[in-house]
Amino acid sequence: MMPKTPLIFVATSDLAGKLRGKAFPADQLNKRLQRGVGWTPTNVQINCFDGIAESPFGALGDLLLIPDATAEAKVEFGEHPGLHFHMGDIVTLEGEPWDFCTRGLLKVALERLHKASGARLLAAFEHEFQLKREPPLSNEAYGHRGFSLQRDLCETLIAAISQVGLKPDSIMKEYGANQYEVVIGPELGVRAADAAVMIRELTYATAHAHGEQATFTPIRNVEGVGNGVHIHMSFVDDKGEPLTYSADGSSGMSELTSAFAAGVLKYLEAILALTAPSVISYARLTPHRWSAAFNNLGFRDREASLRICPVTAKDPVSVARQFNIEYRAADAAASPHLALAAIVMAGTQGIEEGLSAPLPTEEDLSLLNAAELKKRGLVRLPQTLEESLDLFVTNPVATSWFPDGFAEVYQAHKQFEIAKTADLDTDACCCLYEETY
Ligand code: GLU
Ligand code: MG
Repeated sequence: MMPKTPLIFVATSDLAGKLRGKAFPADQLNKRLQRGVGWTPTNVQINCFDGIAESPFGALGDLLLIPDATAEAKVEFGEHPGLHFHMGDIVTLEGEPWDFCTRGLLKVALERLHKASGARLLAAFEHEFQLKREPPLSNEAYGHRGFSLQRDLCETLIAAISQVGLKPDSIMKEYGANQYEVVIGPELGVRAADAAVMIRELTYATAHAHGEQATFTPIRNVEGVGNGVHIHMSFVDDKGEPLTYSADGSSGMSELTSAFAAGVLKYLEAILALTAPSVISYARLTPHRWSAAFNNLGFRDREASLRICPVTAKDPVSVARQFNIEYRAADAAASPHLALAAIVMAGTQGIEEGLSAPLPTEEDLSLLNAAELKKRGLVRLPQTLEESLDLFVTNPVATSWFPDGFAEVYQAHKQFEIAKTADLDTDACCCLYEETY
């Protein structure tokens, strides 16, 4: 056999929600932790179809992508290629965080939350994915046979999750054709988004090692259900004591949770372009798909954009720890870092504005007419990427959460993606996205 040099990939989850980076020989790690690898500003405009949108940077400039020693994923898959990467931060040559590094933007959002409330965020990403296998496995929603068919893949994936130091929660055959769902336990701050990236990469690699191909695309087929990314959030103080629950708060929410939820709902339309950022994301965000179609808070309601989740614990201490809210209007076309940054910024805005959450909805909102929706402050979420992009770039509050110029660059990035798909019908568009996510 030819000799091989082990390589480590240093990665950034970029505006396109793709994991990109460069590899270096593993024995250089110490040096690379200081110096990183070279990175190019215009890379930020490489979209999910490898097109390059108009870039303010052109061919100019240099950056560094620096691996984070604490954000490592390393797994071996027997005779199949393994996976070894570190999440990294993009910085300027002077070592300052770069304005378009999604991981840096998330750190800023988390700092702002902490400053406004003393709270640190715990988040757990729940991912749905589909195997591209033919013929599609039907009639096996939550089925044992459907699960058993991929037991080996599921067991390998769960082992890989433990191997990278994350906490597996559960895995199942989801409702859709060839659809599975993998759930992990909460992680603190930036690590939660790093974990989401790791889950996606581990799933792709595990599927590959089993002769399968996985896709996290927001929706494969409009006749079926979508692949959601549901983000469960709770808060702790600096000592790790829970801050999310209050026995006498509305639906159990503490004042902090209520204000955060209110902020997310108020700015939901403006952040959707960052959490559901593909053209086909909007085919998923329609009523009766158990995704999210309105800017509503739901109590244990799976059609809500923001859901107050049930707790199974009985003793008050565990209830306070388990209690969480779930953002359901996200998908895997979004960088987990950027999506979480946008949600945290919106929630923190709610805290700073002193908002309180509305009463949760408990009915099918698609049956309400426009006047009834309006009376209750409910809006149907934007139904195209163009519309949601517009609601982001024209919202002075939402754009102010990001560095100067961010909204314009993001808009150009996404407009180029929209143009690429403009002549395609929905099926062709779904096929295109399925090749990239
Ligand atoms: N597949 C649904 C979505 O697109 C979620 C179903 C569920 O787990 O409640 O978000
Ligand atoms: Mg699910």
